[in-house]
Amino acid sequence: MLSYEEAIALVLENTSPLPAIEKPLDEACGLVLAETVYARWDMPPADNSAMDGFAFAFANCTTGTTLPVVGQTYAGHPFVQSVPAGTAVRIMTGAPVPAGCDTVVPLEDVAQTENNICLQEHCEIGQHVRHAGEEFQRGESLLPAGTCLRTGEIGLLAAAGFARVRVHPAPRVAILSTGDELVELGEQPGPGQIVNSNLHLLSARLREAGAEVIPLGIALDDEVDLDQRLCAGLQADLLLTSGGVSVGDKDQVQDAFGRHGFKKIFWKVAIKPGKPVLFGKIGSQPVFGLPGNPAASAATCELFTIPALRRLAGHKDPLPPRLKVRLATAVQGGGKRQAFIWGRLHLEKDSYIFTPSNRQGSGQNRSLQGACSLLPLLADSPDLKEGDEVEVLLMRLPDGAVVY
Ligand code: AMP
Ligand code: MG
Repeated sequence: MLSYEEAIALVLENTSPLPAIEKPLDEACGLVLAETVYARWDMPPADNSAMDGFAFAFANCTTGTTLPVVGQTYAGHPFVQSVPAGTAVRIMTGAPVPAGCDTVVPLEDVAQTENNICLQEHCEIGQHVRHAGEEFQRGESLLPAGTCLRTGEIGLLAAAGFARVRVHPAPRVAILSTGDELVELGEQPGPGQIVNSNLHLLSARLREAGAEVIPLGIALDDEVDLDQRLCAGLQADLLLTSGGVSVGDKDQVQDAFGRHGFKKIFWKVAIKPGKPVLFGKIGSQPVFGLPGNPAASAATCELFTIPALRRLAGHKDPLPPRLKVRLATAVQGGGKRQAFIWGRLHLEKDSYIFTPSNRQGSGQNRSLQGACSLLPLLADSPDLKEGDEVEVLLMRLPDGAVVY
């Protein structure tokens, strides 16, 4: 049986970034740039004032120098004439520094009379002037291809005048839940029935990771129904099913995939939870059959589907970040398969502390409650003690984490 490392390598080998599209900048937050962006102009476009004050030529001015004020300039209202040496122009923040001036004195550092100012504080030549091109210059690389656009990048691209950007689109992920026992959320489960909770768990996680989710409903454990509903997912960028991939009498998902031209890449990985996970392709579409047990479904989504999604979305490093943490409690060593333990993290002094979920049962949604990380335990690894340092896979920053 494949190890986690072998299986994730196969997932990444078989997934590539979606073709680039053009998007309005305001719809691009969270998407990944498909090409390097070069500045089309200097920023700032001209020398301008960083303060509300007076602009003048520094020349021989010192504390006590008096300068007549010959005009004023505001942001958006450049001063067109050249300013003679020995005079000053009233200038507000963002206004271009007029020709002839090289220095700005803040309002609070001068004494003003009707038409004159008198410098009250020591000035340095060039002070409070923001120079043309000091932030970026025309032709300069602003952001390399592969950058994930977040607020800071959106602001920078807006300042540089990019109304549209070329990005990898948000992958569309179709999710099909399978099982005769399932009812949709909002319906009252009858005898032997349970709510299709996996759809909601998987959708929430996939959306959080940048997917556009297409729910395909619930397929009965029945060939015809499975085939029909699968068809609706074949146009998506990634197809995901939950349930029906194990060896039970009613586990028919693999056969159903097969009837749609599925090329199997792996079935079963030596992990706990999530052993029956199935991966392959229908044409160029990556297809995952996740196990039905909620914690197994969530773990295999985290371990395999999220990296595939991130690869489709163009992220340079699709694998989950790893963080060194300390154990809040002892943890029993690994068993026959590599184990992944759900847990929560909190900050204590300078270290993150990992508390395993009380209930690790693969059938329980409760094992994921509050969890933001997975602790990998190699097969046959030794028992761990409280306080031991371990490395966890991070799904997201813990609640309350301070990010600078
Ligand atoms: P399966 O993989 O189809 O054998 O399902 C394994 C277990 O997961 C069974 O107890 C199912 O009832 C449960 N299960 C399957 N699909 C879902 C789902 N969409 N939501 C919640 N539980 C599920
Ligand atoms: Mg089932």
